[in-house]
Amino acid sequence: MAEITPEQLAFDQQHIWHPYSSMVNPPPMYPVVSAEGVRLTLSDGRELIDGMASWWSVIHGYNNPVLNEAAHSQIDKMSHVMFGGLTHEPAIELSRKLVTMTPEPLDKVFIADSGSVSVEVALKMAIQYWHARGRASKHKLITIRNGYHGDTFGAMSACDPVNGMHEIFTGVLPQHFFAPAPQIGFDEPWDESDIAELAQLLEQHHNEIAALILEPVVQGAGGMRFYSPDYLKRARALCDQYDVLLIADEIATGFGRSGKLFACEHAGIVPDILCLGKAITGGYMTLAATLTTSHIGETISKGGAGCFMHGPTFMGNPLACSVANASLGLLLEMDWQSAVNRIEAGLKSGLAPAKKLQSVADVRCLGAIGVIEMKEPVETAEIQKLFIERGLWIRPFGKLVYVMPPYVMSDADLAQLTSGMVESIREYRG
Ligand code: PMP
Repeated sequence: MAEITPEQLAFDQQHIWHPYSSMVNPPPMYPVVSAEGVRLTLSDGRELIDGMASWWSVIHGYNNPVLNEAAHSQIDKMSHVMFGGLTHEPAIELSRKLVTMTPEPLDKVFIADSGSVSVEVALKMAIQYWHARGRASKHKLITIRNGYHGDTFGAMSACDPVNGMHEIFTGVLPQHFFAPAPQIGFDEPWDESDIAELAQLLEQHHNEIAALILEPVVQGAGGMRFYSPDYLKRARALCDQYDVLLIADEIATGFGRSGKLFACEHAGIVPDILCLGKAITGGYMTLAATLTTSHIGETISKGGAGCFMHGPTFMGNPLACSVANASLGLLLEMDWQSAVNRIEAGLKSGLAPAKKLQSVADVRCLGAIGVIEMKEPVETAEIQKLFIERGLWIRPFGKLVYVMPPYVMSDADLAQLTSGMVESIREYRG
């Protein structure tokens, strides 16, 4: 395997934006040359156990033979073709799987190119729906603080105003309604006061509001918080009461990550619009989907525009749809529930010793997600060195040191991951 040269790394530092990176003070980059199973191989030959699953997506492990085969066989037939006026088997079979896997009555599928785009599509669906019903004044959103829905403008306008840096984009971002983040934890007894402010905002402004958008049960990039499914149940009821659509952003939680196939199942509710992404292709390439009901799909289509106003160049990309088909096939064939339960048990026992560290504020696990919340923010580059020394790939942000391993991680690798996390934190801050 060719090593990445110092010249190439210097070029990277000088010319390439990485996610949320700086051009004047770029963080160190670790060059990766290959990946297999749950391990990344760096240019210098070091192997790292990947705790991040490339941001929730690589559920079946890297270089997976089934996904490789799906990509190879599709690329030999047709890598891409426009979706306007044309269709193909990979998109049809993927959509059939999505309709079957998701709860009724979600049965209309928009295949989008990324999570953020699927959120844009969801927002446009909600707004077009009310427009088609002659209620064009219902074009605002309501959401909860600590949310994260992507980096494009529509999605960003529904992100937490502080984490989402709204002040930089004041005057550009549409202004929406924000209720406080749910405070009652996943397992804690429900108290109606937790949702009182959301209820009040809906009561006052429902005539202006098209949809409530939230991440069900697990708030990801906005704080790695797990909240009560009762909140979600009540939110669903309030949406029904006030004629507001419910958009569930399951881009991170979808496909088993929270311990249910979809996190909405913790509350036994069905959203009007559902966003899926990340794990849909097993982390092979970008693809996402927005599902809605026949009622919403048909209402939009009978409106003035006569169609839904969105259609990107790479919509329904056959290569990505093919790999997604294989990834969802693998998920349904494997006993994903036992795999996720096993990882949850390993994370709970492996991370428990962190509770005794004085620098740690909280340790929490749900499904295949494990979070250590520190009392103070960590310096990512510094603590990362300690993880790398222990053969681990973990990328914390702020106070959150967290992992969401591939579902195929063995117990031994999981034990190494969790003990290495705890030891690194102890060495870093005690
Ligand atoms: N919604 C949620 C809940 C996410 O976690 C993310 C990605 N971190 C997105 C939306 C945006 O997805 P993408 O990065 O694929 O645009």
